[in-house]
Amino acid sequence: MSKYIVWFRQDLRLDDNPALYYAAKKGQVIPVFIYDDINTQSYTMGQASQYWLKNLLEHFQKACLNRLRIFHGDPIEILPKLVHSHQVEGLFWNRCYEPWRIHRDRHLKSILKCEVQSFNGSLLWEPWQILKSDGTPYRVFTPFYRKGCLVSEHQPREPLASVDPDIFMPIQADESHPPVEIIPEKKWGETLLSHWNTTQNGPQSRLKQFIQSGLCGYKKERDFPSHGHTSQLSVDLHWGTLSPNQVRQSVMAHPVENPKDLDHFLSELGWREFSYYLLYHFPFLPKDNLQKKFDHFPWIDDKKVLKSWQFGQTGYPIVDAGMRQMYATGYMHNRLRMIVGSFLVKNLLQHWHHGQAWFWECLVDADLASNSASWQWIAGSGADAAPYFRIFNPITQGEKFDPLGEYTKKWVPELQSLPSQYLFKPWEAPHDVLQKANIILGQDYPKPIVDVRASRERALAAFQSLKET
Ligand SMILES: Cc1cc2nc3c(=O)[nH]c(=O)nc-3n(C[C@H](O)[C@H](O)[C@H](O)COP(=O)(O)OP(=O)(O)OC[C@H]3O[C@@H](n4cnc5c(N)ncnc54)[C@H](O)[C@@H]3O)c2cc1C
Repeated sequence: MSKYIVWFRQDLRLDDNPALYYAAKKGQVIPVFIYDDINTQSYTMGQASQYWLKNLLEHFQKACLNRLRIFHGDPIEILPKLVHSHQVEGLFWNRCYEPWRIHRDRHLKSILKCEVQSFNGSLLWEPWQILKSDGTPYRVFTPFYRKGCLVSEHQPREPLASVDPDIFMPIQADESHPPVEIIPEKKWGETLLSHWNTTQNGPQSRLKQFIQSGLCGYKKERDFPSHGHTSQLSVDLHWGTLSPNQVRQSVMAHPVENPKDLDHFLSELGWREFSYYLLYHFPFLPKDNLQKKFDHFPWIDDKKVLKSWQFGQTGYPIVDAGMRQMYATGYMHNRLRMIVGSFLVKNLLQHWHHGQAWFWECLVDADLASNSASWQWIAGSGADAAPYFRIFNPITQGEKFDPLGEYTKKWVPELQSLPSQYLFKPWEAPHDVLQKANIILGQDYPKPIVDVRASRERALAAFQSLKET
């Protein structure tokens, strides 16, 4: 029987996995995973991602009946050797779109001496499918998304059937290699996973839970971090434990009272697609401003304020809540990602690269496409970005999106007893109110590291200076 290697990457699942599905139709499958920190350049996985992957691999290994070959190293060295030693007919994988991976995979295709096929396992639309009539890529989300949705030839495929892992070739005695363990350097990540359902059933159960209790009301409620209407599926979509096709089909199969809830959720999946689209067409997205005028932006380099931001010590409770949620759980609600992002690049005037790098380190869904595109969006330097004058006010954002303070008090428990009217601006609370709430500002909770109004004016002036260049 012919043998085929399936190289698992961001697609650690047995169902709706095109590379696996087609390999299984052709012959026996040798499943392989390689932890590659050689070709990554500056994008080696952050700590939170390493913790997530370590756990994921343990479960996936079980799902593969302990037949997954796990390596640590350079696929450019490992795969040709495996092709040779197993005498395989072919090697199949699902495509990834990070520039370093495209570069590596192209090189591999050119050196492998067997059939090599790649498939689309992680996007609804291939980035090259959706172009303007002049053949160039869109820079604006809405026409991109409309074209994807409306043109029938672009309709995403139905999910493929699951593959029985019995088709995987058992590991032979002569191919044994030392067990590969991913050992994250820093210990803080150890508690991250306790906030998640990390069992094998985790992805499906998050999807089910969202469909049952998040989808209805999603459009309105998704902005309120304590209302629980978002899916938390970004982590599964990033690692490929669920495909976007599976998520799309499952939500579409569910009857919703208000079709706008469904449409809005699907458009969020569309933003994920658009991020990959931008990364594919503008591979410099993670590093360089899409709008070149931002190359002259007068960023300030201030390690002290950056550290306060990273560890949720800015003195702005809604910002600190978001940053602490991410550090503790590896996740941050989207509304918070926008608030803390705007605070960093606009109120603190720190380069968006700093925010991108810290998110990369701390998020379990850290994703080169979505993270880079979103940071450029926040900074105003991206395609279809938030306009420069849109500066989130951390006080009114807190009051509007966490009116009862549930989210903020959860992550900033030292403000637990502060009355709501002062929760998002504790420095305005009279002395006796602070005393009653057991808070000494500057001791129990920081004083604000910048003045929100003055820093807003400073940001507007900085953005204005760009217009004049
Ligand atoms: C500064 C910043 C950095 C971000 N970094 C990342 C990142 O590293 N990885 C990541 O997956 N998302 C990132 N996002 C996008 C978004 O915040 C998360 O995808 C979302 O919060 C995940 O929560 P959820 O799964 O509950 O979302 P839901 O509201 O349930 O949305 C469903 C899915 O749609 C996709 N999605 C939703 N919003 C966006 C968006 N704005 N851009 C791209 N895809 C989106 C996600 O895959 C998400 O799982 C970032 C946003 C900002 C503002």
